[in-house]
Amino acid sequence: MRLLPDSSHAESDGALSVGGCRIDSLASQYGTPLFVYDETHIRARAREAIAEFGSDRVIYATKAFLCTAMARLIHEEGLLLDVATGGELFTVLHAGVPASRCVMHGNNKSIEELRYAMSEGVRHIVVDSFDEIDRIEALHGTGLPAPRVQLRITPGVHVHTHEFVQTGQDDSKFGFNLNNGDALRAIERARACTAIDLVGIHCHIGSNVFDAENFAKASEVMVNLFATLDLPELTLGGGLGVAYTEAETAPTITQWASVLRSATAALPASTIVMVEPGRCIVASSAITVYTVGTVKPIAGIRTYVAIDGGMSDNPRPVLYGSGYEVFDPQRVLADRPERARVVGKHCESGDVLVNDASVPSDVCIGDLLATPVTGAYGYSMGSTYNKVPRPAVVFVADGVSRVVVRRETYDDLVRLDQ
Ligand SMILES: *Cc1c(COP(=O)(O)O)cnc(C)c1O
Repeated sequence: MRLLPDSSHAESDGALSVGGCRIDSLASQYGTPLFVYDETHIRARAREAIAEFGSDRVIYATKAFLCTAMARLIHEEGLLLDVATGGELFTVLHAGVPASRCVMHGNNKSIEELRYAMSEGVRHIVVDSFDEIDRIEALHGTGLPAPRVQLRITPGVHVHTHEFVQTGQDDSKFGFNLNNGDALRAIERARACTAIDLVGIHCHIGSNVFDAENFAKASEVMVNLFATLDLPELTLGGGLGVAYTEAETAPTITQWASVLRSATAALPASTIVMVEPGRCIVASSAITVYTVGTVKPIAGIRTYVAIDGGMSDNPRPVLYGSGYEVFDPQRVLADRPERARVVGKHCESGDVLVNDASVPSDVCIGDLLATPVTGAYGYSMGSTYNKVPRPAVVFVADGVSRVVVRRETYDDLVRLDQ
């Protein structure tokens, strides 16, 4: 239950409800696989972040999960939105969020993406390379106003997380390297450049970071640099880890905030300290619900339980070797005494959802199985591999469910084909 969305509740017959909606009813109504998001949970995390850091200081990293309804919800809660591509910017603007509430990211923004961001008037652009400064100068030369800019700095800090999501070390594609002098050169150039309104510096050390000390270390490096610059804004990234399995525990947003507050305590009170959380806002707000299609016991080896999704709706196990729990939402409190490898339906042996899962006894064809903590980097990283249509996404709150992204159809799968 600790891993489930805030409003999770076991009904008298042992079935899970979230947001006042029974998961088995949602599965019959909308089909599986199904992403179920607890709207109240997302709002609570957004409010916790605003309460800790202040309004206009919290920027939701949309790549964790983005659709029109999500952009609106996040905007309603008063967070800014971080977009890293033209497509993310388009989605957020399509949702009706003003460009002035958006922050533009990306290590390789194209001239078109920069033109889009500058002509729409995003709040600021986080500039990542000297080439990007050249592009902004060229665009400014065509008459676009000089954007507000933060420079992304690579502080040279290693964090303990998966290699693919470490971003603050010297050997990184992101940002201006502090240790080799690039950061200072970029700051000098940006200050001298009339095409850029330099307002601050930025860092992001990685994602799914569990040890708050890592944030303290990176913040110290950034604060030391920032203190010499006389700029108004400092962004200290996102990256707070969340617990995916029963064995894991992660700091809360409040604990993370207190680490950052201590790290920035010596800065002038007027400093605008911003953060960009993605995962910790949305990851544990959702579960994915699947239906079991095949149970294959291989004597002396193991049992394979195959569900109707897999790496197309959750690529994290394949990408990062991430662990998940799995449970039956019709008997959410049941013991899980048996072991099984829970796999997807894709044509890959690597299509494993949970490598060695504890499962309830006698898992049968037609049972529902659900994985908690799939709200971040699941749907957003999904694909239509094997031409498996993408699942529907449902928001639930106060006993009401609504489809925010409809299930893909076979027709959708060929709509780009000429
Ligand atoms: C991904 C990303 C974030 C959010 O990271 P989480 O680990 O999801 O909190 C914040 N800032 C930048 C620049 C990012 O790339």
